[in-house]
Amino acid sequence: MKKVFLCLLICCFAGYAIAAELPDLGDSSANYLSPQEESALGRQVMMEIRSDPAYFDDPVSVDFVNHVAGRLLAVSEDAIGMHFEVFILQDPTLNAFAMPGGFIGVHTGLIMAAETESELASVLAHEISHVTQHHIAREMEAQSQNMPLTLAAMAAALLAARTSPDAAVGGMMGAQAGAIQAQLNASRGYEKEADRLGIQRLIRSGYDPRGMWTFFEKLQHYDSFYEGVPAFLQTHPLTTERLAEIQNRLQNIPYKQVQDSPNFQLVRSRIKALVGTPNEAVRSFAGEELNPKYPQDQPEIYGYAVALWRNHQFTEAQQKLDSIRLYAKTNPMFLSLNAAIAQDEGKLDLALDLYHQALSQYPDDRALNYGYIKTLLTLKRNQEALAHIRKRISHNEQDAKLYNYEARAFAALNQQLASHQALAYYYERMDNYSAALDQLQIALKTGDGDFYQKSSVEAEIDTIKNALASDKAKRKK
Ligand SMILES: [Zn+2]
Repeated sequence: MKKVFLCLLICCFAGYAIAAELPDLGDSSANYLSPQEESALGRQVMMEIRSDPAYFDDPVSVDFVNHVAGRLLAVSEDAIGMHFEVFILQDPTLNAFAMPGGFIGVHTGLIMAAETESELASVLAHEISHVTQHHIAREMEAQSQNMPLTLAAMAAALLAARTSPDAAVGGMMGAQAGAIQAQLNASRGYEKEADRLGIQRLIRSGYDPRGMWTFFEKLQHYDSFYEGVPAFLQTHPLTTERLAEIQNRLQNIPYKQVQDSPNFQLVRSRIKALVGTPNEAVRSFAGEELNPKYPQDQPEIYGYAVALWRNHQFTEAQQKLDSIRLYAKTNPMFLSLNAAIAQDEGKLDLALDLYHQALSQYPDDRALNYGYIKTLLTLKRNQEALAHIRKRISHNEQDAKLYNYEARAFAALNQQLASHQALAYYYERMDNYSAALDQLQIALKTGDGDFYQKSSVEAEIDTIKNALASDKAKRKK
C-alpha cells in the first residue's frame, strides 16, 4: 500500500519539475479544485487518518484545540462559510499541517512544546491561513499541470506526504533538485502569506502575536536539543528572512500581557498522561515535587491523576485529584476525571450522580456526555441512555460517537435493524461510505423493524449509492 503511495508522489513531482512556476498569490485556485472537490479530497484523507493508530481520539484535548481555533476563526473574515476541523496525532515530533477541506492536524509533540496558549494559537493561525488561501490546492494545481491527477491520486499523495518526513503539505518536495528549488520558492511565498494573515488573526482574537515569533524561534533552535530538524520546519521552511519579516510586523504592535486559559496547561498535562503505556505515563510524573497550593503545580497534579487512573491505581488517582479539589472543583476536566474514576472503580451509581451534576453545569461537554451515556449503558438503563443520546444528537447531529453509542443501546434492546442503521450513521460521519452501506444492507437482513424503518433504510441506501457514484465521477475528472 505504502509503496503505491510513494510511487504516485514521485510521479506527480517528476512532472512538477518542468511545470513549476511561482503561483500568483492573489489568485484563487477555484478554477482547478472546487470547494466541494477540496472537501471531498480532505474527507477522503481523513477517513484513512481516523483509522490510523496515531489518531488521538481524546474529546477533551481535541475540543480544546478546536476551541483555540474557534477563537481565531471567529475574527477571520476570509474563513466565513468554510468548514474547519482540528485533529490531533499522537506523535512526539513537532509538526502541524493543513489539508484541503479545512482539516488541520497537530502533533502531540507540538502541543507539548508550546509554552503558552498564544504559541499554540500562532501555529493554528498560520495553518488556518494555508486553508483560507487554498495553498494546498494551488500547489497541487501547479504540480499536476503536466500530469493531470485524479482526486484519488492526490489523496494518496497527501497521505504519503503526511507520513514521509521529507515530503509534506506546504512543502511537498520532489526527488529532483529543480523540483525542490521551485517548490521551496512557492512554499516560501505561501509561508510568508500564512504568517502575515496568521498574525492578524492572533491580534484580532486577543492572543499575543509575539507567540508566533517565540514559538518559531524556539523551533529553529530545537535541533540543538533534538536530532534533526523539527518536522514543522521541513514542511514550513523557516528562513532567516521569514523570521525577520515576522519580527518586523510585530515591531509596531503595543505589548499586551495575555493570560492563558486555565485549560491550556491542564490539556498539556493530560496529553503527557495519555501518551505511551499507562506505566510509562505514571513514571513520567513520579518523582516530581508537586505542591497542590502552587497554581503552577496544579495542572501537573491533574495530569498525574489522569496517569494513575489510566494505570488502574484508582485510590492514588482519587487522592491526587482530591488534593486540588479546592482549586479545580468547578473545572469540567476535573469533574469528568472525578466521575471516570468512580465509573472504572465500579461505583456506577456514584459515577452517574457525578456525571449528572457536572452536566447541569456543562451540558455540552462531550467527555461528560460520553461518560454519562457509557455509565447508563453499563447499568443496562438502555432506554434512558437512548433518550439522552437522542437529546445530544438534536444538539449536534454530526457527532459520530453518539451514533456508535446509539447502536450499542439499540443492540442491548435487541433492535437489530435500528442498531445497524445507527452504525451506518456513525460510518457516514467518519466519511466511510462503503462501511455505512454494508451496515444498511445488514440492517435490511436482520428480519426486525417495521415497514417504515425498512423504507427509511432503503432510502438511505439510495442516497449513499448516489453520493458514491457522484464522488467517483468527480475523482475521474
Ligand atoms: Zn506553513
